[in-house]
Amino acid sequence: MTTDVSGDVSAAVSLRGVRKVFGEVAAVDGVDLDVRDGEFFAMLGPSGSGKTTVLRMIAGFETPTEGSVRLGGRDVTGLAPFDRDVNTVFQDYALFPHMNVLANVEYGLKVKKVPAKERRERALQALRTVRLEGYDKRKPGQLSGGQRQRVALARALVNRPKVLLLDEPLGALDLKLREEMQVELKAIQRQIGITFLFVTHDQEEALTMSDRIAVFNAGRIEQVGTPAEVYERPASPFVAGFVGTSNLIEGQAALDILGREGVYSVRPEKLRVDTRLDAELPRDENSATGTVAEVVYAGAATRFVVDLDAGGRLVAVQQNLQASSMDVLKLRDARVRLAWRREHEFSITGPM
Ligand code: ADP
Ligand code: MG
Repeated sequence: MTTDVSGDVSAAVSLRGVRKVFGEVAAVDGVDLDVRDGEFFAMLGPSGSGKTTVLRMIAGFETPTEGSVRLGGRDVTGLAPFDRDVNTVFQDYALFPHMNVLANVEYGLKVKKVPAKERRERALQALRTVRLEGYDKRKPGQLSGGQRQRVALARALVNRPKVLLLDEPLGALDLKLREEMQVELKAIQRQIGITFLFVTHDQEEALTMSDRIAVFNAGRIEQVGTPAEVYERPASPFVAGFVGTSNLIEGQAALDILGREGVYSVRPEKLRVDTRLDAELPRDENSATGTVAEVVYAGAATRFVVDLDAGGRLVAVQQNLQASSMDVLKLRDARVRLAWRREHEFSITGPM
């Protein structure tokens, strides 16, 4: 194997300078990406940012207009989907409705002419992995959404791909089931140890499940990092706003509050809302005064939207440790001081 200086040969998936143009639209506009072996990797971004197109180019359903795709160090840019060691789980599952669960899971192996006995054993094993033992005779129509999702997963896993591609795999499930499946998907990935590359537009899903996240915006990647890096040190205002609440302090407000120019941010849960405007402040804290524009009581926590005297607004989230709903709701229109530890404010320097 020859080593390409611009590509990481040990990476499970490696993209270099990948573009995809549909007519006038650059759906993907210059993407470099390395996904490590065994990683649970998320591509996160708003609708239309190019995530699915990237996934389809890795699977082989689309050919890049420019750039290269490598899998395990091997250039697969021009290869057909079935010549690549990947499998895809689609959001709509794409199960065959007339076939029972076992036949659905076996299908890929049948196409590959795997003998019937081995086919059956591997399919039953895959169904055990996704905890669907005993469901093999049912038709997809006799399953819940979560169970259909698992069949789709088993159908991909049965081929033992090096990389599993998942396009919004939990998108069709309601919130509670989605949260359960997030934990389960992660457990399955840990158990079988293959690389999972999944697409989501849900920041919380990306933060809770992934080893690393690539944040997409308009066909490009704005940042790649661990959940903590992306959340605590966003590389651009876009990332700060998409992965969490952006809470920007900029322009005159930055000069007045922090004494310097630039764009800064503090996460809502790092802000302390205080009605004592002139109580002494710890030496390691900064603060800003303002007026509460909105109070949203949400049981465990309350969300305050505060218009700063220096300009701009910040959102603060406080745990309702002692406070009742009555206590917090009467703070609407109140004068408050927001305080935070300096180590929790960060500067944002990337492109808008
Ligand atoms: P995402 O998955 O992040 O929502 P997509 O990759 O599906 O984004 O789409 C990115 C952009 O490319 C969108 O503007 C979309 O309309 C466009 N696009 C995707 N597929 C096609 C296609 N087959 N033909 C024309 N435009 C497409
Ligand atoms: Mg998509």
